[in-house]
Amino acid sequence: MPQRRPLMAGNWKMYKTRAQARELARMIVRGIDPAGAEVMIAPPFTALAAVREVIQGSPVKLGAQNLHPGREGAFTGEVSVPMLLDLGVDYVILGHSERRHILGEKDDFIRAKVLAALEAGPTPILCVGEKLEEREEGRTMEVVGGQLEQGLAGLEPDHPGALVIAYEPVWAIGTGRTATPQIAQEVHAGIRSWLAARFNKDLASGIRILYGGSVKGDNVKALMAEADIDGALVGGASLTAEGFLPIARFQL
Ligand code: PEP
Repeated sequence: MPQRRPLMAGNWKMYKTRAQARELARMIVRGIDPAGAEVMIAPPFTALAAVREVIQGSPVKLGAQNLHPGREGAFTGEVSVPMLLDLGVDYVILGHSERRHILGEKDDFIRAKVLAALEAGPTPILCVGEKLEEREEGRTMEVVGGQLEQGLAGLEPDHPGALVIAYEPVWAIGTGRTATPQIAQEVHAGIRSWLAARFNKDLASGIRILYGGSVKGDNVKALMAEADIDGALVGGASLTAEGFLPIARFQL
């Protein structure tokens, strides 16, 4: 069995001023188990530098919630790989369902971002997941496979950087409705098979596949007990130390 160190990632979305972000980051640094899961927190762009200062010298990793694939240029409001690296960002969340479905991001653009991050930047966490109607139509793997195909097109098996996938069923994000561990495992196993077929078995067995969708302290253990669930991408519960630390410190 490959050793995949669990990754517990907090997506703070459009929450937290710098002062609030510093305070929460401090509590997370103090509360994690350095010998346990790898822990990443992704504050809004405005708080990245403040959180970097707080987590410096600790094992907590820094995440960004987006990037633009260009190095620099006339792209009002955007942030590039060199800018994120300048801030010491370790991970970047790409293709989140809120960006796909609320902000209208398309697969081509997401692919350009994934490639830019893999080339030189923070490790990309590529999010995929079906909507409720797609699940009800029995199209989950078709949709997820399509997002992977599009999001990773052009990628060679010997690509230079690490890659993380997050399976986030849209119907489970922020709804309090979690996929059962069995439902999540089924899709995670499907994603790993897809990766093995598209690249190779070794690469597929080394890639961490996170689950996201209403993960909480009281359901994390059952999810993490599944063979192909390698961590969690957490929204709501990552906004407080009481919500996030039990997830970050889960034990089987
Ligand atoms: C997310 O936004 O990635 C997410 C999984 O949110 P929540 O944990 O609130 O469902």
